[in-house]
Amino acid sequence: MAPVVPWPVAFMGIDRPESMASVVVWLALLALLVLLVRWRRRSRTRKPPGRPHGTTLGSALSGVRERLESVWSRTSGSAAAWQEMEEELISTDMGVRAARRIVEVVRETAVAGADEIRPVVRAELNRILAGYDRDLHLTGTPSIVVLVGVNGTGKTTTVAKLASRLLAAGRQPLIGGADTFRPAADTQLRVWADRLAVPLVSGTRGADPASVAYDALQAARARGADVLIVDTAGRLHTSHNLMEELAKLVRVLGRDGDRVSEVLLVMDATTGQSGLAQARRFAEVGVTGVVLTKLDGTAKGGVVLAIEDELSLPVKFVGVGEGSGDLLPFDGPAFVDALLGAA
Ligand code: GDP
Repeated sequence: MAPVVPWPVAFMGIDRPESMASVVVWLALLALLVLLVRWRRRSRTRKPPGRPHGTTLGSALSGVRERLESVWSRTSGSAAAWQEMEEELISTDMGVRAARRIVEVVRETAVAGADEIRPVVRAELNRILAGYDRDLHLTGTPSIVVLVGVNGTGKTTTVAKLASRLLAAGRQPLIGGADTFRPAADTQLRVWADRLAVPLVSGTRGADPASVAYDALQAARARGADVLIVDTAGRLHTSHNLMEELAKLVRVLGRDGDRVSEVLLVMDATTGQSGLAQARRFAEVGVTGVVLTKLDGTAKGGVVLAIEDELSLPVKFVGVGEGSGDLLPFDGPAFVDALLGAA
C-alpha cells in the first residue's frame, strides 16, 4: 500500500526524494513573496518627496550673511565708506529706507569694527521686524486659506508645502485648484495631491475660478476636511482682470457666511524690487500675509525687510527649497540671527 502523503506535500511535489529541486523553487518563491510584502509596506509609509525641513534659515541665507560681514569689516567712517555701506545694503534688496536707517544708526552710535557694528544693526533690524502678527490663522470650519501671486513665484509648490505642514500638525486639508487657466497647474497640483494623499477638487480648463473654489469648499465640508487651501491663477498681474477675479473668488467663498481666514501672497525672493511692485497690486484683494519663496536661491534675502518696512505686510512663511518640507514659519529674531550670525 502506498504511504499516505499530506496534500500540501503532494501539492508542492516534495513527496519524492528526487524532487528537491521543487523545494528550492518553492523556497525561492516564498522569499520573493516576503520581499514583495516588505517593499509594498515601505513604499506606503514613504515620506513625501523633498527634503523634509532639511534646509535651515541659516544655510539659506549664508550668501547674504557673508556679504554683510564684509560690509561691516570694511567700514572706515569716511563719507565714501558710509555711501558704500548704504549701496551694499541696498544691494541685498532690503530697500532704500531700511538701508538708510541702518547706516544712520551705525553713524550715530559711532561704533567701529564688525564686532561693535553687528549688535547695533541687530537691534535696528529687530525693531523693523517687530510687532507683526505672523500666526497662520485658521478660523472657521473648514478654515479657508487662499494663495495668490504671479505665475512662477512658487504658488503651487507652496500649496503642497502648506498641506504637508498641516498634515504633520494632524489637520485634514483639502486642496482647491482654482487656476483654471493653465492646464499645467492642475497636473502639477494633482501630482502633489497624490504624493501627499490629500484630496483635490479642481475645475476644467476655462471654468470660473470662483465656482471651482466654491465647489471645493462644499467638498471640504462634505468630507470633513478642516482646512481648504485654494490655489489661484497668477497671470495678468498688471491687469485689473486678475484682481477682479481674485476678489470675486474671495467673495464667493464667503457667500454662506464662511470667512477666508488667510489670503497669502506668494512672492519670489529672487525678484527683488519688481516683486514689491507686483505685491502692491495684490493689496486690493485683502492680503493678510506673505510667503516668501526661494530664499535658498538668492544672496539677497534683505527683501524680507523691504516687504515689512514698505508694504507693512507680515512675512508668515519662507520657502527654502523645492521639497514639501521646505517651508519654514518666519521668525524675525531668527531671521536677523541668520543674517548677522547668532549673537
Ligand atoms: P507657480 O507658477 O507660482 O505655481 O510656481 P511653482 O509652484 O510651479 O514653482 C515654480 C518653480 O519654483 C518650481 O520649479 C518650483 O520647484 C520652484 N520653487 C518653488 N518654491 C521654491 C523654493 O522655496 N525654493 C526653490 N529653490 N525653488 C522653489
